[in-house]
Amino acid sequence: ARIVDPGGDAEERRIEAALRPRRLAEFPGQPRVSDQLALVLEAARRRGAPPDHILLSGPPGLGKTSLAMIVAAELEQPIRITSGPAIQHAGDLAAILSSLAEGEVLFLDEIHRMARPAEEMLYLAMEDFRVDVIVGKGPGATAIPLELPPFTVVGATTRAGLLPAPLRDRFGFTGHLDYYSADDLSAILTRSAGLLGVEATPEGIREVAGRSRGTPRIANRLLRRVRDYAQVHGSAVVDLPSARAALELFDVDDRGLDRLDRAVLEALCRRFGGGPVGLSTLAVAVGEEPDTVETVSEPYLVREGYLIRTPRGRAAAPLAWQHLGLTPPDSAGT
Ligand code: ATP
Repeated sequence: ARIVDPGGDAEERRIEAALRPRRLAEFPGQPRVSDQLALVLEAARRRGAPPDHILLSGPPGLGKTSLAMIVAAELEQPIRITSGPAIQHAGDLAAILSSLAEGEVLFLDEIHRMARPAEEMLYLAMEDFRVDVIVGKGPGATAIPLELPPFTVVGATTRAGLLPAPLRDRFGFTGHLDYYSADDLSAILTRSAGLLGVEATPEGIREVAGRSRGTPRIANRLLRRVRDYAQVHGSAVVDLPSARAALELFDVDDRGLDRLDRAVLEALCRRFGGGPVGLSTLAVAVGEEPDTVETVSEPYLVREGYLIRTPRGRAAAPLAWQHLGLTPPDSAGT
């Protein structure tokens, strides 16, 4: 896996668990979502009733799971965690729903990947706190309604646009998480360094934050590698020299681009004169599958303004030339 991959596997999530903020007050960044959530939760607390269902949307690694856990902690309720892909049959969901306690938080990660019949069951459960348990098969099957105690669904999705409207409408509150500023990432990293028991200077922290693509998961991962480097090669302090040396070793440049990102830009500028060039031609030039270039590298390059997708293919933006220290071909003569 790439060191700048915003997703995390099971092992990484285990390591991350220690770094998760536990309460809203210690959750840096996302001020809008954070303030809105604080209000929704406080109002629910005063009413003594569960809040509206909550949908959290945004790219991977920005803290949706952490916020879901925080919601439960703030409500002082237990949390049940599952995900869309784990619910392939309506029966899977019925089993979970029928065992929820009053006020419990049900976290449904990747909610857009839930099977359709389960989705329909969820509509009813969210709106009426009821599930229809089907008994028997075929024409003789009967639906027995089962009342559920009120609970709160916290759904997380990287693709809010993929959620069917009826499901989206059942969330009373939607929070959209956005990429973090370097200041917020620095705050997160300072806290993480403390939890990891690593000494860090503000300059070292800043250097890691600046290369983390606005994503706390990447920031925490880079911090762990800089810590390793500092422990092996230096004074065990995450400072500017150790951050620079470690991130050079791991091929993450000063703007957070890795080897593949730079290879794509190099090919685009040096071999194809800045494009436009078709995706598959570009992929062959960097020795990757078109799908890898499109899903792994391109989103960040497009978001940051290095690469432009045009109907005729991929083109280098001025920032790409600048980042590689190259001069774009003179457009005056063309
Ligand atoms: P995914 O969509 O991949 O499940 P996610 O959006 O649910 O990702 P989390 O799992 O909550 O993201 O966060 C990933 C890591 O980043 C965790 O280690 C978490 O501690 C850290 N993190 C995320 N947001 C913050 C934050 N605001 N403050 C501190 N740490 C954060």
